[in-house]
Amino acid sequence: MKGDYVMSKISCTVTNCFYNRTNGCTAPAIKVDGKKAFESRTTNCDTFIQQKPGMMSSVDKPRQRTEISCAATNCVYNKEKRCDASDILVNGKNAKGPVETCCSTFKFHD
Ligand code: SF4
Repeated sequence: MKGDYVMSKISCTVTNCFYNRTNGCTAPAIKVDGKKAFESRTTNCDTFIQQKPGMMSSVDKPRQRTEISCAATNCVYNKEKRCDASDILVNGKNAKGPVETCCSTFKFHD
């Protein structure tokens, strides 16, 4: 059930993403990849879309909380392929594609 999951606050340095506003995220939900990830740099934000001139999200404020589905099941915050962290940090300045972004909050569980 949707309401059972924690929504996370996203801080994001990927300022050239369509959804980025003031280092926050305007997307209603994001998807993080990293099925076999064992460190943060092998995860990525799959929702990244590179901004084109004159093309930006019309939402002018980042969301306070965002639903995150996440394939990085090796992360301590991953609960049934959803992110259970209260906040996450996505990095990837000047990324040209999702693979150049990552979830820096990823923490490997033994
Ligand atoms: S903190 Fe972990 S579970 Fe949450 S989005 Fe990042 S990699 Fe996925």
